[in-house]
Amino acid sequence: MISTAVRIKIYNYPKILLLCLVLLVVSKPAWAQETCLLIPASLPERVAQATVIVEGKVVAQKAFWDQQHQNIYTVNQVEIYELFKGEPSTNKNIQIITEGGRVNDDLQTYSNTLSLQLNQQGIFFLEPSVFPTLNQHQSTGPAYAVYASSQGFIQYDLPFDEAHDPFQKYEGITSTLYRALRALPQVQARIIRANPELQKAQPRKTSLNNPKARTQAIPTIADFTPDSLSAGTGAILTITGSNFGQSRGQGLVEFSNANDGGSSLVRALSSDYISWSDNQIKVKVPAYAAGVAASGQVRVTNNDLASVNSVKSLFVKYAVTGVLKDDVPYTPYHVNKDGNGGYIFRANASVNAEAAGSFTRALQTWTCQTAMNWQLDAQPTTLTVNAEDGINLFQFTTGSALPANVLGRTTSRYKGCGTNQYYRFWVDEIDFEFNNNISWNFGSGTPARNQYDFETVALHELGHAHQISHINYTRAVMHYSISRSQVTRQLNSISDIDAGNFVVSRSFRSNICGPTRLEPLIAENCVLPVPLLSFTATAQPTGDALLTWNTASATDLSYFVLERSANGSNWTTLTKLPPAATPTYNVTDPQPFIGFTYYRLRQVFNNQSFAYSPVRRVGTENTAQAGITLFPNPLQNNELHLEFRAPINGTVSIKVYDTAGRCLGLITRLVSQGNNPFYFDAAGLTKGLYIVQATINSATYVTKFVKI
Ligand SMILES: [Zn+2]
Repeated sequence: MISTAVRIKIYNYPKILLLCLVLLVVSKPAWAQETCLLIPASLPERVAQATVIVEGKVVAQKAFWDQQHQNIYTVNQVEIYELFKGEPSTNKNIQIITEGGRVNDDLQTYSNTLSLQLNQQGIFFLEPSVFPTLNQHQSTGPAYAVYASSQGFIQYDLPFDEAHDPFQKYEGITSTLYRALRALPQVQARIIRANPELQKAQPRKTSLNNPKARTQAIPTIADFTPDSLSAGTGAILTITGSNFGQSRGQGLVEFSNANDGGSSLVRALSSDYISWSDNQIKVKVPAYAAGVAASGQVRVTNNDLASVNSVKSLFVKYAVTGVLKDDVPYTPYHVNKDGNGGYIFRANASVNAEAAGSFTRALQTWTCQTAMNWQLDAQPTTLTVNAEDGINLFQFTTGSALPANVLGRTTSRYKGCGTNQYYRFWVDEIDFEFNNNISWNFGSGTPARNQYDFETVALHELGHAHQISHINYTRAVMHYSISRSQVTRQLNSISDIDAGNFVVSRSFRSNICGPTRLEPLIAENCVLPVPLLSFTATAQPTGDALLTWNTASATDLSYFVLERSANGSNWTTLTKLPPAATPTYNVTDPQPFIGFTYYRLRQVFNNQSFAYSPVRRVGTENTAQAGITLFPNPLQNNELHLEFRAPINGTVSIKVYDTAGRCLGLITRLVSQGNNPFYFDAAGLTKGLYIVQATINSATYVTKFVKI
């Protein structure tokens, strides 16, 4: 009698003994601001610079490594429908090369750089490809690249009659966009073949613009919950209303797109829909390369392509970057790449001392708040090429090495591992390139009117390196746009800090596969958040930990929360204290965790904003003392991670019991002294309390978790 209540997955060791019964087993003008380091390229500029302009559709894609195995490119086969300028090499399918893509377990993305999706349609502004070593892929003639990268593609929003690029939206493809193009002197339009999808495109049907609407099933939105959430984190929005249709069909849920300030809409991926019925939709809020859900109205379109906007607005606090594998989004983890717990960036000779100082300030602003394990190496590197080479390179480069009108960009290089069911990507390397033709302000003073503040820009790009996406929230560093002379050198506690802590703290857990986990950075030289003057954690001879801090006087301080964690990831409140008359505080933790215990202080102000102290740590990696750590706890989904710190090499038995004392599963495994990760699929467990017991060498360790 075997049922699959819980399955245990074991990593790194093949010997699995399964006992016990059961196994666990156009409308809008271009903006004055720049979108994330993009300088707007006008339509006349793009038409003048492109040698070939076509309307087309991506009908096939293949990613590949260049010959030096430095970078991944994607060749996109694009079927041509209409020609607006020049003579392409063929009238059938042309080849357009874009930077980045996925080859098996290797994936690369670039900020401010176009990445196309299969079946996308639009207008491509093309120039001959300058990307190297692509000859083996040029089977049908020369390859093209898109001028100005993400600005060189005006994407159609089919089946609706709309199109957009990073700075402009066009309502009416043939009426508005075609007209704008044909008004330019270099444009001579010629139809190559029919575009049936465009011919079927039509304006959105709503009760306002369609007089027949009253006889059609126009959807209505009564409400959605919650009002506020994060995107790309798996958070689910529940929308209630009517006429959604019994099934989704070609129905859609769309959100304002944070990448252009809400000018366009971003659609949930097929895998984001949890359920769809005539009066209720449950959908995950998306954040991936093609678009990032932002605050704003939510739009539902039913299978009849009739749409409705919500009356109220959703507030998206922050968005976490997702990368796609077979159209399923994954949130990348950070790992221990440098052997010291995290990542080291290296500048080359293009980075002057002032720029390095500015970058370091931005780096510390993040690491002191999120404990991300990043450091800038004092020694420069001789490397000058943006390539996968194991070096996290920070460099300035000539404008010609970047897409036109780009101030700088971040390359994220990921690697993946695991089975399809438990697949994960980790950040393997980050490279920064900044345009050296720009007038930068590197100092800590105020930039001149025509300058960009480098610390502000670096802080934003380091947010992308954290794997945080854009947000349409002007007070946040991850707001999609940065303008000349803008200074934003502090993280926003509602958005940026929460986002950073989300992505970083999940990386402090043991990995199922791939490199070892990220270790929290214990930064000693952090600028403490006002009014904090000092914060220390000291191990006492008695085994206690003593936490001491003092502050300057502050009338707007409401209270302190002293938090602790066993792994830097799962924080619990140790105590909560009001501001005292004497600004020196001493708190004793009588029972620190086995091994390391991490502490941080949250200062909460009267307006409910807050700031974290840097993380402090006491203890040692004491593998002589054994223990079990489970997370997340309580368990909301089915991914339960377990770390067993073994006191010795030997065989451990781990049993899971329910509260009635029934053994639901057992696993026996050889383990090594120190940390040993296990992974449980708890899909078969009902909600409730469970007990986990580990026995090794006749010593027993017990802990509990709750499934909710
Ligand atoms: Zn950005």
